Amino acid sequence: MSLEDNIRKVEPYTPGEQPKSKVIKLNTNECPYPPSPEVTKTLNRLDWNRLRLYPDHAMTELTESIADHYGVKPSQVFAGVGSDDVLSMCFLTFFCGEKPVIFPDITYSFYDVWTEVYRIPYETRPLDEDFKIRLSDYLTENGGIVIANPNAPTGRAESIELLEEIIKNNRDSVVIIDEAYVDFGAETALPLIEKYDNLIVVRTMSKSRAMAGMRIGYCFGDEKLIKYLNDVKYSVNSYTLNYPAIAAGKAAIEDTGYFKEIVGRIIKTREHTEAELTKLGFTYFPSATNFIFAKPPEGLEASEVFLKLKENGIYVRYFDKERISDRLRITIGTDDEMHMLIHVLKEITG
Ligand code: PMP
Repeated sequence: MSLEDNIRKVEPYTPGEQPKSKVIKLNTNECPYPPSPEVTKTLNRLDWNRLRLYPDHAMTELTESIADHYGVKPSQVFAGVGSDDVLSMCFLTFFCGEKPVIFPDITYSFYDVWTEVYRIPYETRPLDEDFKIRLSDYLTENGGIVIANPNAPTGRAESIELLEEIIKNNRDSVVIIDEAYVDFGAETALPLIEKYDNLIVVRTMSKSRAMAGMRIGYCFGDEKLIKYLNDVKYSVNSYTLNYPAIAAGKAAIEDTGYFKEIVGRIIKTREHTEAELTKLGFTYFPSATNFIFAKPPEGLEASEVFLKLKENGIYVRYFDKERISDRLRITIGTDDEMHMLIHVLKEITG
């Protein structure tokens, strides 16, 4: 036995680059607009003396306002430090059996990292040629299911009917639907939590609420599942969200007008960008998210376009992975940023 034998070794998740210099940043699906002005006002009014104290471990203010906003009970809500924290807690809590947890082969690349770090057995199921789920793949024995809807990095949304079939036919395992991008064009599975006690629906404030830097995520589920999640959370770290984050999260969730305005703007910019990309010979499936997963025209490698864009100060995401290395994931920025992107792509495609 050596020192090394006692150490947990993992292949970590690789986040998108956060360059220090000023670039057009279309690589991590952040929101190009600032958070709600109500968030800024709330932060400016905080009582900084309260930083002496531990924050409210139950994050009552926040979970109550989330519950109120979505029309559920506070006991059906769990919040964490970004949806990464919420998802990680879900993996730790709900995937404790011997049977493999299943998720698509092309999806959020953190899922297999959590299964590895928590030593959870898992199997992936290949998406079809159109990057869609095959229902029969999820009707086999399993220890849990994770589906991002809309999916990342494909940007594709599944129907709620398909998701319900999966949830309904797997009553003995927890089905997690990761709705990080749902506000940009997919139907939510949230109402199904009243019908199925094996469903968890995960959300984030990082995308449609423009709060990636504040790190707030949350999920919904049956009261019993939420209690199990809290039991695990209180066994790992009782105080997750800090005092400013709890207050800012409440302000963000309550400003529906601003939320609708920025989501609407992003969708409009996405549609315009899709049309421009088509003119340049790029192909893509219609996006239900705040990014487009596009394939460059014949004769141009995605890796090459990625590097050329970078040389021009435009960062997008390239995954050197099987089945998707021929595409680029392009986050929707402001109209000006997308205009610059198209301008540079015109030069590259010549
Ligand atoms: N789920 C998916 C599908 C994502 O793409 C992301 C963003 N990287 C997350 C969850 C996590 O987002 P956050 O931790 O910022 O809430």
